[in-house]
Amino acid sequence: PATTRHTVRKKPVRTTVVGAGVIGLSCAYELSELGHQVTVVDSGAVGAAASAGNAGWVTPFLSTPRAAPGAVRDAFRSFTSTEGPARMRPHLEPSFAGWITKFLRASTKKRNAKSTAALQDFARPAHSYFDSLIERGVSFEQYTDGLAVVFKEEENLVHYEQIVTKMRALGYVGSVKVYRGEDAAEFDPAIRRDIAGALHLESERHVRPETLCQGLAKWVEANGGEVAEHDAVTAITARSSGQWMVTTESGREIVADNVVVAAGYPSRTLLAPLGVTVPLEAAKGTSMTALGEGTAPAHPLKLYENMVACSPFGNAVRLSGTFDIGNRDFTLNQKRLDMVVRQGLSFLEDWRPTDVEIQWVGHRPTSADDLPIIGPVPGQAGLYLATGHGTLGVTLGPVTGALAAKEIARHGQQRLLEPFRLTRF
Ligand SMILES: Cc1cc2nc3c(=O)[nH]c(=O)nc-3n(C[C@H](O)[C@H](O)[C@H](O)COP(=O)(O)OP(=O)(O)OC[C@H]3O[C@@H](n4cnc5c(N)ncnc54)[C@H](O)[C@@H]3O)c2cc1C
Repeated sequence: PATTRHTVRKKPVRTTVVGAGVIGLSCAYELSELGHQVTVVDSGAVGAAASAGNAGWVTPFLSTPRAAPGAVRDAFRSFTSTEGPARMRPHLEPSFAGWITKFLRASTKKRNAKSTAALQDFARPAHSYFDSLIERGVSFEQYTDGLAVVFKEEENLVHYEQIVTKMRALGYVGSVKVYRGEDAAEFDPAIRRDIAGALHLESERHVRPETLCQGLAKWVEANGGEVAEHDAVTAITARSSGQWMVTTESGREIVADNVVVAAGYPSRTLLAPLGVTVPLEAAKGTSMTALGEGTAPAHPLKLYENMVACSPFGNAVRLSGTFDIGNRDFTLNQKRLDMVVRQGLSFLEDWRPTDVEIQWVGHRPTSADDLPIIGPVPGQAGLYLATGHGTLGVTLGPVTGALAAKEIARHGQQRLLEPFRLTRF
């Protein structure tokens, strides 16, 4: 007798991503590509927290942890600093003391060398993941002019040349050119003529970060996913069925097979009720984006002595900086922003802001060893954490999304993610 073949349609795996920053959206995008039914939920607007007003650099070269020798000395100095780029704002909570202790332990020469090697391995393919986003139809503003590190002092330029040698030993293959004295201003006429020089990392890139988040969100929605804004997640609870329930402020209850927590610094508080400790602190930064007059930089510039980042985006220029660890306050500190702008302009020949478009603050989710925290949450099947990218969330966003999605979709553990598990703490 003739047999009828029935195709059993498998229900798509449902995955909810908490957080529509560059990390959550990168995960959502890759999970959609792998066929998951994705819902992204954010307490605010798409990409409006740390992923908005940052410098937008995609710079594998700079992928090194801040937990480094000298961190102890700098931490104590910063208590009294008003003009320094980095400051510490201690809390009385035990979690802050725990964070600092772990950070200092991670700052030894040996630990730093290990962490740097792991981050370099992870960041090395970053540019190819950006290429792949473009090939697969995600649209965003990307610039491929490299990154120039600009120095007021010759000794700092010499020191940085030694850093290039170290990074070469770790496998950095990008081309590097050094311009001394007036040659630096020939290379980029926005740079002041009397500075010591500039070191051009020719292969690095930058993106306008707001456009990256918008591009990813649009792609997810166009491919059947949902991106829900202005609805904070209030609870993540395990159900007896083995699934998860994500509850939001508006009373929505989303049932999911997997939950990815990519909520930046607040990931800590979201996971605390499940008994999961995530050693994360906020490192507050600030930026100004403006149209101006005079010669605008043709390249993104890392203004070395003051740790200010200068990013040209079309006609606009963004100056960003400060790393205020422990500062969880969302208000704009005008004095800190004015300092960033003043110090940034001290490297530039004649560009001056005329029309300020955006003044911004954001909190880098910074782990206790300044390495990302990526992987399944131990003892909580189907719950995955992706945060702690500190100063590198844009650089590492797409590679994080791609590798995390493979793990969430049970395509096997990803070797490059091994150094970044929560269990290391
Ligand atoms: C001044 C400055 C300059 C920087 N420059 C660079 C750079 O050049 N290159 C680079 O690679 N990195 C840079 N960074 C770092 C980068 O901005 C961060 O690493 C990155 O944005 C972190 O992304 P994220 O998705 O983890 O966090 P976020 O962008 O903060 O996203 C987390 C999201 O979770 C949401 N959320 C929080 N709580 C809840 C909740 N309860 N329910 C629902 N949603 C919630 C938030 O609203 C937010 O949208 C810079 C940072 C600063 C501050």
